[in-house]
Amino acid sequence: ETFVDFQRVFLAYGNSDEFAVEDISLQTRQGEFIAIVGPSGCGKSTFMKLATGLKPPTRGRVSIGGEPVTGPLKFVGMAFQAPTLLPWRTTLDNVLLPLEIVEPYRSNFKRERARYEERALKLLRTVGLDGYAHKYPWQLSGGMQQRASICRALIHEPKMLLLDEPFGALDAFTREELWCVLRDLWAERRFNVILVTHDLREAAFLADTIYVMSKRPGRIVARRENPLPQPRE
Ligand code: ADP
Ligand code: ADP
Repeated sequence: ETFVDFQRVFLAYGNSDEFAVEDISLQTRQGEFIAIVGPSGCGKSTFMKLATGLKPPTRGRVSIGGEPVTGPLKFVGMAFQAPTLLPWRTTLDNVLLPLEIVEPYRSNFKRERARYEERALKLLRTVGLDGYAHKYPWQLSGGMQQRASICRALIHEPKMLLLDEPFGALDAFTREELWCVLRDLWAERRFNVILVTHDLREAAFLADTIYVMSKRPGRIVARRENPLPQPRE
């Protein structure tokens, strides 16, 4: 039932004698959508690195899906604030990228390409990008690029989606449209989500549970169950 499990986790970078995050304990349920909010420098990115195995904790224990994390996890999808689509690839080829580089899809990629393309086109349709599959990133608006980034993050059907300020650079209308897109995808597929955001409204609109972090020390100082009803099948 528990998915993400942090047990008294501390992390200090390099030889620093200050912890970037300290004494983080947190458990999520399978399929839970959590948001982490807090000021810049409070340790949100550090939390993400710990949750994906990019950094081992200095102290404490991190498990995902019941397994201790011992190195970078494969079954995660990520999207960030800055557009990270490869400019020389079409939308479709950008979305397919994880299937080309993440095992076991990589081994089958050539053989399964038609099936994978179909999967990518279906996702693109879901986020309203039909008709843009063969366009290049520069031909898409910022909001469309972010939609494509979310498709790319989900194409290999990861168990966990990590979103680091994914809508921060968008105008308010586009942002709220994408909240709905994301919420619908999540309601349908029930992957685990960790969203990092400065936007409390965004956290309240999307997440089941909101964690607030403080700076110096980088700790979780509040946990709120979202009182708004979340979409369920
Ligand atoms: P480490 O070397 O501790 O494994 P990283 O590989 O993440 O950490 O970063 C490499 C180096 O970059 C760090 O050791 C640090 O000196 C420097 N660095 C990167 N980001 C920051 C930051 N926000 N504040 C201070 N130093 C930083
Ligand atoms: P946030 O994502 O909330 O802005 P970070 O996790 O990036 O916060 O940073 C938390 C603390 O760790 C900050 O004090 C930052 O300077 C420090 N830090 C982040 N990355 C590194 C690094 N690679 N090396 C050294 N210090 C770092």
